[in-house]
Amino acid sequence: MAKKEYDVIIVGGGPGGSSTAMFLKKNGVNSILLVDKAKFPRDKICGDAFSGKSVGIAKELGIVKDFDKVPHEGVYGVIFSSPKGTTIEIPFPGSERKTQSKPGFVVKRVNGDNVIFQNAKKQVETLEEFTVTDLILENDYVKGIKGKTKSGEALEIRAKIVVGADGTSSVIAQKVGEGALPPQHQVIATRGYYKGVSGMSGNIELHFVDQIMPGYFWIFPLDNGLANVGLGLLTSEKQKRKLDLKKTQEEIIANHPIFRERFKNAKIDEQGIKVWTLPLGSYHRKNHGNGWVLVGDAASLIDPFSGEGVGNAMTSGKFAAKHIARALKENNYSAQNLDAYDKELWGAIGHELKTSHNLQKLGSNKWLLNLVIDKAAKKEKVRAAISGMLADEKAKEKTISPLGLLKLILT
Ligand SMILES: Cc1cc2nc3c(=O)[nH]c(=O)nc-3n(C[C@H](O)[C@H](O)[C@H](O)COP(=O)(O)OP(=O)(O)OC[C@H]3O[C@@H](n4cnc5c(N)ncnc54)[C@H](O)[C@@H]3O)c2cc1C
Repeated sequence: MAKKEYDVIIVGGGPGGSSTAMFLKKNGVNSILLVDKAKFPRDKICGDAFSGKSVGIAKELGIVKDFDKVPHEGVYGVIFSSPKGTTIEIPFPGSERKTQSKPGFVVKRVNGDNVIFQNAKKQVETLEEFTVTDLILENDYVKGIKGKTKSGEALEIRAKIVVGADGTSSVIAQKVGEGALPPQHQVIATRGYYKGVSGMSGNIELHFVDQIMPGYFWIFPLDNGLANVGLGLLTSEKQKRKLDLKKTQEEIIANHPIFRERFKNAKIDEQGIKVWTLPLGSYHRKNHGNGWVLVGDAASLIDPFSGEGVGNAMTSGKFAAKHIARALKENNYSAQNLDAYDKELWGAIGHELKTSHNLQKLGSNKWLLNLVIDKAAKKEKVRAAISGMLADEKAKEKTISPLGLLKLILT
C-alpha cells in the first residue's frame, strides 16, 4: 500500500508517465509514486507506430531490446496515396530492409506500453487500479492527489510535485484550470485490428482519401498478418461535416476502388472500431504551475501532421524529470522555477511542431497533394526530397516553404 507522502507523484503510467518515472530515477530522485487507474497490461487506442523518436528515447532508457520479447513488426518506409489514387513508396533514409536495425516498428499498445510500464515498475513504487479524482491544493500550490482504489477506498497522498501524465482527458489538467482544447487543435480518430488485409509490405501507409480530407486513412502492419487500420481528421472538420467516423471507415473499406480489393478477405477483431481524441501540439498548452507539471497528451504534444504522440510524450518525460530533480534540490516548486521545463521542451520540439502544423494545412489542399504525389511517382528526385523530409526537420521545413514547394513542383 502507498505511503502518505512522496517527493513526486506521477498520475498515468503510459509512455509519458513511465518515462518520467525512469528519467527521475536517472536524475537521482528516489521518492516516486507512479499511479494508474488501469491494471497493466492495458489497451490504448492508437495507430501503434513506434517511430524513430520513440525508439531513440527507449534506447536512452535502456529498454529497447525488451520490445523484441513482444509481438511487433518492423517498418522500413511510408506509402502515400493521393486523393486521385496515385501511390508512392518512400523508404526511410538508410533503412535496409529486413536487417536487424529497425528504424521503427508497429507494436500493439497493450504490449508496447506494458514493456515501458513494467520497466518503470522495477525502478519506482507503483499503484495500479487507483483513479485520481482531484488534487490537494494549499496556498495556491498543488500538494498531492485524491482518489479511489478499485474497492472504493478513498485516499489522499501528498507530494512536493504532481505530474499529470493522464492522457487526453487529463484530470490533472482540468483541476489546474486547463480546459478542453479548441476543436481545430484536436484530431478525432478511429482504430480497428483486421486480419487478412492483402498487399502489406513492411511500410506504414497513409492514404489521403477524398471522404476524409483534410485527414487520412492509415494501414499499419502488425505481426501475424494483422493490420492496425484507422482514419482521423480535425475535430472541427468532423463537427462541421457531421461525419460518423465508424461508418466512414466501413464505407472506405467496402467501396473504395483500392481498398475494397485489399480488404476482400479481411476480418475485424471482436473489439470492432474504436474512437479516441488526439490533442495536438499546434496548441501550446500551459504545462506547469506551482507544484505541478504536465507531460505527453495531458500537455497536448501530438504532431499535428503525423498524429504521433508517443515520442513527444517520452521526450517531455525526460525534460520534466530533469527540471523536477533540480526543483527538488533547490526546494523550490514554484511555477517560475518550473518555467525552464517549458522553455527546454518547446525549445526542442516547438519548431518541428510548427512545421508539422504548416504541413497539416498544406495537406488539406487536394490539388497540391495530387500534384506532388504524381510528381513523386514519376521522379526519383522528388521521392528523395520527401524521404529527406522524413529524416530531417530542417529539410522538412525547407521543402514546405513556398520556394521549396515550387522547386518540388517544377522538378
Ligand atoms: C487513433 C489514434 C492513433 C494514434 N496513433 C499513433 C501512432 O501511431 N504513433 C504515435 O506515436 N502516437 C499515436 N497516437 C498518439 C498516442 O496514442 C499518444 O500521444 C500517447 O498515448 C500519449 O502517451 P501518454 O503517456 O501521454 O498518455 P496515455 O498513453 O493515454 O496514458 C495515460 C495513462 O493515464 C491513465 N489515467 C488516465 N486518467 C487517469 C486518472 N484519473 N487516474 C489515474 N490514471 C489515469 C490511463 O489509464 C493511461 O494509462 C495516436 C492516438 C490516437 C487516438
